[in-house]
Order: sequence, then structure tokens, then C-alpha cells
Amino acid sequence: MNKKLYVISGSSGVGKGTVLKGFLDRNPNFMLSISCTTRAPRQGEIDGVNYFFLSKEEFQNCIDNDKFLEWAEFAGNRYGTKKKYINQCLADGKDIILEIDTKGALQVKKQMPEAVLIFIAPPSFEALETRLRGRHTEDEATIQKRLNEVKVELERAKSFDKTIINDDLESAISQLEAEIKNA
Ligand code: 5GP
Repeated sequence: MNKKLYVISGSSGVGKGTVLKGFLDRNPNFMLSISCTTRAPRQGEIDGVNYFFLSKEEFQNCIDNDKFLEWAEFAGNRYGTKKKYINQCLADGKDIILEIDTKGALQVKKQMPEAVLIFIAPPSFEALETRLRGRHTEDEATIQKRLNEVKVELERAKSFDKTIINDDLESAISQLEAEIKNA
């Protein structure tokens, strides 16, 4: 295992957060990158822990000053990874995981070809729709927007290094461990 930067993407509601949490619990030497976003915090989310929550103006200012390694607009909000943050983590010798959308992942790969891109896919589109609705965190319009994004993401995932199908949590976590160890 000599790669340092791993990028995990998956459609909304695919359960990638749960798979990643399972992986990180077992592999505490890996750290999860904290992204910036213009999205409002969901209940229980903490600034500086789940995300750095920025205003639209603050986010635009970071774009103008070339502060992002990558950024993307997703379902009406902007999300980005700060260059300085990643470079500091790598300089500290940490293995770092970015949980970002597919568009951002492909931008990272362009700038850092050594990054390993892993896509977590749903067993089926229907299974994903059920999971997304079951979360009860978004309204109908947002859900529709996100389902449309899913189709685009599945297309982009074809350029990823690896794909894991999350039909069983335990097996998805083990597969992720195996892919990272073999990368
Ligand atoms: P959520 O709003 O559900 O937390 O995240 C929505 C989407 O934004 C997810 O697909 C997530 O992976 C993506 N995302 C989170 N942080 C970043 C980031 O820094 N850059 C990019 N490109 N996407 C991100």
C-alpha cells in the first residue's frame, strides 16, 4: 500500500458514507478530508467536522484566488477541496480519503494522476431511489434533482479505477479494504 490519496465517489443515497465509516473505524490511520460547501448544515452537522460551511461569497472568493484542488456544483450547491488542506495532510504523511462527487474526482485525477478513484455503486437504480427517500432529509424537488445527477455520475464512473457494488455493507467494506490495499 504505497498510494496516499484515495477518492471515493458514489451516487446520493448509495450508502457510501456508511461504507466509508466502516472502513475508517477499522483503519484509523486513514483520514477523511473535510470539504467546503455552500450547502446549509443538516441537523447534527458541525462546521469544521462534517464540512467547512461557507457563504456563496466566501466560496467564490476561494475560486477567484485559486484555492481549490477541485470544486463542483452539485444539486444547486457548491462543494470544494482546498489545495492547502490536502497538501498539508500529505506532508504530514497521512493517507487521505476524499469523499467527493464524480466530476470533482476526475479533476483530482487530472492534477494528481497517482490518486486512486473508487466508485461505490448501488445494486440498482430502484434500490437507490428507495434509500434516498428513506433518508427523509430532502424534499421532493431535491430528490428528483439528485436522481438525475445519479445517471450522469454512473456514466462518469466508467473512467474510475475501481467500482464496488454496495449490496451488502460488510462485503462492501471488505472490498474497499482490499482495493485500497492492492492499489
Ligand atoms: P451532501 O450534500 O449529501 O453532503 O453531498 C452531496 C455530494 O457532494 C456528494 O456526492 C458528495 O460526495 C459531494 N461532495 C462533498 N464534498 C465535496 C467536495 O469537496 N468536492 C466535490 N466535488 N464534491 C463533494
